[in-house]
Amino acid sequence: CGIVGYVGNRPALQIVLDGLRRLEYRGYDSAGVAVIDDTVILTEKRAGKLANLEKALTERASDGIATGTTAIGHTRWATHGGPTDRNAHPHLSADGRVAVIHNGIIENFARLRAELEATGIEFVSDTDTECAAHLVAAEMRALRESGTDVEGPQLLAEGMRRAVRRLEGAFTLLAIDLGVPDAVVAARRNSPLVVGRGDGENFLASDVSAFIEHTREAIELGQDQIVLITPDTIEITDFTGEPATGKEFHIDWDA
Ligand code: GLU
Repeated sequence: CGIVGYVGNRPALQIVLDGLRRLEYRGYDSAGVAVIDDTVILTEKRAGKLANLEKALTERASDGIATGTTAIGHTRWATHGGPTDRNAHPHLSADGRVAVIHNGIIENFARLRAELEATGIEFVSDTDTECAAHLVAAEMRALRESGTDVEGPQLLAEGMRRAVRRLEGAFTLLAIDLGVPDAVVAARRNSPLVVGRGDGENFLASDVSAFIEHTREAIELGQDQIVLITPDTIEITDFTGEPATGKEFHIDWDA
């Protein structure tokens, strides 16, 4: 129901949690975050209020979850699978390398799930979303194995483009990959997504109120667009990889 992404030079976790709090008014039943921390993607997710998630994070604070500078966060309004810890987002690929959050509904998830299960992937949730995490990871792996010279953030963006071309329905999807530590990629179809342009940092959110305390320069994504953010770049394409532009605007109201 609410989505926040951050990449920059500050500890990302607190920025993402603050953003989620600004989106609380929309209502939700669970919340979760994923932070890239050197060698792993750390995730924490809980049914119930943000306070439950924050308590769980405090309990594991010694893991250093608060230091990574790339993170995504989600508040969920369950549509497929009950509001449990397990079904809360982020969802991880089977190898733990890709984390995905999603607003909306993936209409053809049952078919995709059957197809992915046939390749040996075990699903751990009842959500429509989880198939997107496995798909992005599978597309990135296939690209690497094809000997492509696409690498780094571009590999993440291309993996997302190939994955969303297989999806039907409504989605704002954000993904991070352990091998691409300074990037977040997002896709949107029939669901809102805005970018916040910072100085040495960039933001993604379902609503500008999530990042308004950090920047007032925003870009609204158009239908069927992909955006790749790194600390210093914002790159928008369509689902095939053709360059595209969003609608730039300055936020001059108090959100
Ligand atoms: N359909 C997804 C789920 O049930 C996302 C729901 C949402 O938009 O929060 O997990």
